[in-house]
Amino acid sequence: MDDCKPLESWPRVPETLAFICWERLLKAAAFPDASACDICCDRLPSCPVSDCIFCLIANGTIPVDVVWQDEHVVAFRDLHPQAPVHVLIVPRAHYSGMDDEVPAEVHAALCAAAPLVARATGVADSGYRLIVNTGPDAGQTVAHLHIHLLGGAVMSEGMVRLA
Ligand code: 5GP
Ligand code: ZN
Repeated sequence: MDDCKPLESWPRVPETLAFICWERLLKAAAFPDASACDICCDRLPSCPVSDCIFCLIANGTIPVDVVWQDEHVVAFRDLHPQAPVHVLIVPRAHYSGMDDEVPAEVHAALCAAAPLVARATGVADSGYRLIVNTGPDAGQTVAHLHIHLLGGAVMSEGMVRLA
């Protein structure tokens, strides 16, 4: 599958208006029976770019504070940080989570990015924690695969606090 392509023709919209995807609306009007997205990729039966906040961030439609990126991965600061350094490392292509047939090279790109993001955010030497929430019990709220990188303070020893 191809990575989602940057959509230069899209209007840049504020975060609160991210749900508006004019291309998708126009396409839906022109091709009411279309069952696959041919704007960014043909992997999902609907358009992951217009449905997914992290796709919109990864393709540049929503501007964020990017701390590191390469051709496969974008890392940006979490909107609601839970540590002095709280960065989300996301693949540019859309995968809903760990169970979404993620190619080994995407896993490799994410893991390889982590120490580089840690270095870029100044926590490589002090230490950091990586978390991948997967599914409801883990509290995954955004269905686009991502690694949380947390650091900048001493964290509790226990990794899990049950609700
Ligand atoms: P999850 O709960 O799925 O593991 O993590 C999702 C994370 O994404 C949360 O920590 C949440 O604060 C962050 N997040 C949700 N929406 C946005 C957004 O629009 N921008 C940024 N930068 N972070 C977001
Ligand atoms: Zn996505």
